[in-house]
Amino acid sequence: MIDIKSMDLEELSRMLEEWGEPAFRAGQVFSWLHRGAVSFEQMSNLPRPLRLRLVQECALAAPQAARRQVSERDGTRKYLWRLADGNCVETVLMRYRHGNTVCISSQVGCRMGCAFCASTLGGRVRNLTAGEMLDQVLFTQLDSGLPVSNVVLMGIGEPLDNFDAVLRFLRLVNHPMGMHIGMRHISLSTCGLVEGIDKLAAYGLQLTLSVSLHAPDDATRSRLMPVNRQVGVASLMAACRRYFEKTGRRISFEYAMIDGVNDTDGQADQLARLLRETPGHVNLIPLNHVKESPWRPSRRTARFQKRLESCGVTVTVRRRLGGDIDASCGQLRRRALAEQDASEGNDAK
Ligand code: SAH
Repeated sequence: MIDIKSMDLEELSRMLEEWGEPAFRAGQVFSWLHRGAVSFEQMSNLPRPLRLRLVQECALAAPQAARRQVSERDGTRKYLWRLADGNCVETVLMRYRHGNTVCISSQVGCRMGCAFCASTLGGRVRNLTAGEMLDQVLFTQLDSGLPVSNVVLMGIGEPLDNFDAVLRFLRLVNHPMGMHIGMRHISLSTCGLVEGIDKLAAYGLQLTLSVSLHAPDDATRSRLMPVNRQVGVASLMAACRRYFEKTGRRISFEYAMIDGVNDTDGQADQLARLLRETPGHVNLIPLNHVKESPWRPSRRTARFQKRLESCGVTVTVRRRLGGDIDASCGQLRRRALAEQDASEGNDAK
């Protein structure tokens, strides 16, 4: 079956032209898909034979909301979407003053192995397609009735480990005939895959690149993030500088504050030194405690922030949203998997 949802307008035009359709059909189909049509039958301005051929040759399945949670505190909404093959991924909608932001997943699971992260515990099951990433934005907007103005690729998965599909998704969600979300309203977060950063830089997109740094020194970073054992902090920062030179966009460095691990004065000074050479700002994240991990949230965030600021570094501290609804990514999917296992176990008895 053809994955029509992942096709760009040019590919769709080529396919429909081969099918003997007039040139304007591609735009019609593209618009239906990007408005969230769930079947070809409902595409009422297409001739019946075309609709039938689309049904026969193309896959089109809306994700099903396996769970929905709404935070009573701040209106954050979390979805567990069940995909066509039964796998589930999480999507979070956060309500900020500057607009509604959707945080999407790029893979089912993750193989990066970060020690503090719930998404990686079961490894990577598979990559998501561009269409599945788009559907998370589209159906979260449709289901919630809240218009989405910003997208962040900060959910389950490592976007640069699924490079081609992610790039395709960016083009789709940015398309004027689709959701038309501006590149400057999109952030992509990576654990720091240097090759991927260089590859992305070559496209010169105006999105924000977030790099999950979490430690300024190799010993600590390698302990927290296995990816650092291949490529150390110095090479990562060099890639960030190349990215800035190529795109003109400053990097956002993510830094989850972990008690007694990466929150010392010395580490703040080291981090400030790194930022002196590389244009960017630091986003301090309160660690979300994951029950399988030994790490605890730092109690030194305010001090760490002040120390960075006194060295001239721009720092923001992420507000915790959805704390009452497992909104830290990976946790809802894990809970659902565990409950599924438990109920299957019961059935077997
Ligand atoms: N793979 C990408 C994007 C997904 S994670 C990346 O590594 O950047 C999005 C962000 O949440 C990353 O900065 C990640 O390190 C961070 N994160 C993961 N688990 C966390 C936790 N328990 N508490 C706080 N931040 C966490």
